[in-house]
Amino acid sequence: MNYESRRAQLIKPSPAISVSIQAKELTRQGIDVIDLSVGEPDFDTPMNIIQAATEAMKAGQTHYTAPDGTPELKQAIADAFRRDQRLDFANNEITAGNGAKQIIFNALMATLEPGDEVIIPAPYWVSYTDMVLLVGSTPKVVECPYDMNFKLTASALEAAITPRTRWLFLNSPSNPTGATYSKEELIALGDVVKRHENVMVLADEIYDQIQYGDASPLSFLAANPGLKDRVLIVNGVSKAYAMTGWRLGYAAGPAPLIKVMGKIQSQSTSNPSSVSQAAAIEALSGPQDFLDEARAEYAARREIVFTALEAIPQLRAPRPDGAFYAYVDCSALIGRIAPDGNVLENDSDVARFLLNTARIAVVPGAAFGMSPYFRMSFATSRKALETACDRLGRAVQDLF
Ligand code: PLP
Repeated sequence: MNYESRRAQLIKPSPAISVSIQAKELTRQGIDVIDLSVGEPDFDTPMNIIQAATEAMKAGQTHYTAPDGTPELKQAIADAFRRDQRLDFANNEITAGNGAKQIIFNALMATLEPGDEVIIPAPYWVSYTDMVLLVGSTPKVVECPYDMNFKLTASALEAAITPRTRWLFLNSPSNPTGATYSKEELIALGDVVKRHENVMVLADEIYDQIQYGDASPLSFLAANPGLKDRVLIVNGVSKAYAMTGWRLGYAAGPAPLIKVMGKIQSQSTSNPSSVSQAAAIEALSGPQDFLDEARAEYAARREIVFTALEAIPQLRAPRPDGAFYAYVDCSALIGRIAPDGNVLENDSDVARFLLNTARIAVVPGAAFGMSPYFRMSFATSRKALETACDRLGRAVQDLF
């Protein structure tokens, strides 16, 4: 019996999740592994949000809702866009689903035909390419080098567009690099998009509340208001409010697209959990102090990681402007011999070496479409990060 369709054969399990499973298995065996592979905040969901969810359950909000979100949630999302980005959306321009992941999938299912192309700047979030493959279309990966701070330039975008291009994916701040586009950079990309009428932009802004320095988060659409009928802003409560397990993501975009996305969701999962919707209303409309506290903590952790990385001459990484990842160039380690006698031939070998020798779990750059690198998440305690960086430094020194 064949249990796997041709479509399913095109994709692989999420590599970040696989590394995390390996790390957990070693921990279960009593081995002291520090897991820097996970892409989620280590904080607890703020108590006011949990209380709102509890109240909602007690008040009987435990039934099906409208398939792509309650009017109250859509209103809270619209209010948040107005507050944070000065962007106005009506309820029929907003959809909510089981995480930003489902929202992105809905958008692709809604719009793509076989042979259509999606431009994905690399390094990219691991799921983008597989989602495009799963709906039968073609990811067009554009490498964005270290020296460009891993950002897509207007000329690289222009060169990648063909008559089959349907979407540009733009993830700012980025997972895995933390690269964050300035207003000028967003406008330059928007100008290219304007010249190509069939191209839409999926602006994945799920890390927009996690930024360093004085910059406030700027949406692609806020920088390019003339593109309102061709931009889908994707966001969610997972990263900003430490709510990854609640599975609540959302998008704002052209009403006809939002309608198709809702239709698809109504025939697949129906509504995101009613309780999570109530929680998300509180997250978006309640007190926002948690965001400041989380940002300050991530900033301190970023300092620990980058001070340590700067002291390891064989590694280099640009300091991210947002999100909570370091994307580390490990090309100097390629060709070195690990203690088990194996040559480190690629970044998967480097990640394996770091897990086996330094007992730290990182995700190899191959998963993000650009090698040789590895991604370290600093969404873990300062103490764990200090120990992890110490182990990293010693493991690298031992290779030379
Ligand atoms: N987009 C990016 C860039 C991400 O890093 C993630 C999660 O890791 C998601 C989307 C999906 O978030 P969720 O489905 O938890 O809302």
